[in-house]
Amino acid sequence: MFRSRRGLPEKRKIRDVKKIVAVSSAKGGVGKSTVAVNLALSFARRGIRTGILDADIFGPSIPTLLNLSGEPRLDEHNCLVPLTNYGLKSMSMGYLLPQTQADTTTGELPMDTTPISWRGLMVTKAMHQLLHSVSWGPLDVLVLDLPPGTGDVQLTINQEIIIDGSVIVTTPQDIALRDAVRGFGMFQRMEVPVLGMVRNMAYFACPNCGHQTRIFSHGEGHNCDDRGVVAECNRLGVDFLGDIPLDARVCEDADRGMPTVVAEESVERSARREAFLKVA
Ligand code: ADP
Repeated sequence: MFRSRRGLPEKRKIRDVKKIVAVSSAKGGVGKSTVAVNLALSFARRGIRTGILDADIFGPSIPTLLNLSGEPRLDEHNCLVPLTNYGLKSMSMGYLLPQTQADTTTGELPMDTTPISWRGLMVTKAMHQLLHSVSWGPLDVLVLDLPPGTGDVQLTINQEIIIDGSVIVTTPQDIALRDAVRGFGMFQRMEVPVLGMVRNMAYFACPNCGHQTRIFSHGEGHNCDDRGVVAECNRLGVDFLGDIPLDARVCEDADRGMPTVVAEESVERSARREAFLKVA
């Protein structure tokens, strides 16, 4: 591994990748992976050569979201060959560790029950392989689906590769927003430009009458712009990238492995699809 003068690994670009955009959330369950995969697919649908790297080692969801499974093959340089669906290349810990549930046939320790002291080593090794041993081929953008939080894994990734920009996903809830601001602080410390914030589950649009209810907008005021996420973006000087509605179809699309950007391609006016496209 390359070393800098301070003994830390030298930050590197990923081979054949022009730009790396990290999608993050300080909190789990706010829709980070859903936004990441729809963002990546929005790029891909515009003819931008795109890949997605699922760095969420303990909760990889990209295989499910892209309806992909199976072990990636190795190329002649011993690099992992990404799995592709919907024109989007992907690599995930989920492809490399199929035994996330107890595996009685091989006797291998699943991550969930592996002793913590081993876990650290496994994670570092696996992360290193995911970051440096994937043959992406020429890519314009690699979307990095970061694990939730603001801890060691995020720091390790940032020490190893040059992240060109980050997108922070939050919901309108005060508690999620507070964490998002913490995430902003982390990127500042890591000297990674924050491209903006996305407000997921911004409102519930009734499928029958179309009425919009701001379910999680406690503390956001009536027009949602004078307080909350938009105000926080203004205060921090980052762009507000847009609202994604809380919509059962988004969840259904994700569960069946066909994210909304692809699932509703032929629907003439799908507000949920347009919301994702707007972020991209
Ligand atoms: P995270 O990556 O932050 O843990 P996920 O992207 O896995 O979150 O989303 C968590 C759950 O919420 C998933 O079941 C997903 O389908 C659902 N979800 C995410 N965004 C939306 C949305 N806008 N509307 C409805 N369900 C959503």
